[in-house]
Amino acid sequence: MADDSIKKVGEAPRRTLATPTLADRTILLVDDDPANIQHVREGLASHGYRFREAHDGTEALRSLREVRPDLIIMDVEMPRLGGVEVCRIIKANGGEGGFGFIPVILVTARQAAGKVEGLELGADDYLVKPFDMLELSARVKSMLRLKALQDTLVEKNREMDLKNRELDRANKELAQKREELLALTRIDALTGLYNRRYFEERLTEEFIRSTRYRSPLSLVMLDIDHFKRLNDTYGHPFGDEVLRTVARAVRGKLREVDFVARYGGEEIIALLPETGPKEALGACERVREAIASLQLEHRAQDGSRQQVRCTASLGVASVPAKSILALEELLRVADVCLYEAKAAGRNCVRQHQEETPG
Ligand code: GH3
Ligand code: MG
Ligand code: MG
Ligand code: MG
Repeated sequence: MADDSIKKVGEAPRRTLATPTLADRTILLVDDDPANIQHVREGLASHGYRFREAHDGTEALRSLREVRPDLIIMDVEMPRLGGVEVCRIIKANGGEGGFGFIPVILVTARQAAGKVEGLELGADDYLVKPFDMLELSARVKSMLRLKALQDTLVEKNREMDLKNRELDRANKELAQKREELLALTRIDALTGLYNRRYFEERLTEEFIRSTRYRSPLSLVMLDIDHFKRLNDTYGHPFGDEVLRTVARAVRGKLREVDFVARYGGEEIIALLPETGPKEALGACERVREAIASLQLEHRAQDGSRQQVRCTASLGVASVPAKSILALEELLRVADVCLYEAKAAGRNCVRQHQEETPG
């Protein structure tokens, strides 16, 4: 029962809307004749409404900005700015940031009633003087209910907007997290290169693309020479360090668009899009050379340092080639070339040659 007493910080108290009682509502009474205002106030006195008064249109607009009434009961016939004009101004500024929705009941003398009715009032209701207090009371109540309903609606919309925005943000965060996770599942932890699984996905895509458009594509397989011996002599952690350094060297010697991955223990594989046999061979030589000239240094526990040499063998094959029609074949041929490079004494590149008919 620890945290029940702890209130959530930063939560605004909820405003209760559309309460059944309308007593705490504010009504703005606008009339140039104080007697009329008095008359209405008395008629509605028993309901407990709050009243504000304005004695002409200009004053009404000023008061509107200050008090934000829930209802306006307004005389049509006033000097200067008349009720109909004020009503138009209110309704024209009804949007958010303006007055919002405020119901208006216009009040007019009997002889002008026809005219009022004929106008595009924009008022929500109107009464003809002299009016029955019971009738006024009923109209006021229904207008206040309308206003409360409208307020609830506005508030609900606002809450919904807020929730939608929160949802949007959460979704974006989620998408980003998913991207990050996805990226991690594609990366080999030791070397930072792509891993084999992702490489195979990309290889499939690129092979299909190359076949369809007959665009050149080269595949390089690289294996570090005598890596077991290196591990045995200097220890596995040093072997790991060498692997990382070699991976960096390979990555650094190839183009940005080339796709480099750790294929197995100490094997690296690279996919060179838009690269034919000649360029591929050049790239392989650059990589081989870079690895052979790495300045590796092993530091023993007794503090003694030793320069360590490391080389790699590479096999490379390219499509389009008459003898390579399937992806598996491309992989197999590159692997054969790598084996040939090992057999030829290591620290060299072997390339697949198309057999010339003859
Ligand atoms: P070759 O020139 O014929 O390739 O000889 P090699 O010793 O490199 O070949 P082999 O496949 O016999 O040995 C590969 C070694 O690589 C064996 C294994 O212990 C080591 N190895 C594989 N993965 C890792 C790794 O993540 N870290 C380290 N330090 N060593 C690894
Ligand atoms: Mg008047
Ligand atoms: Mg190997
Ligand atoms: Mg090896």
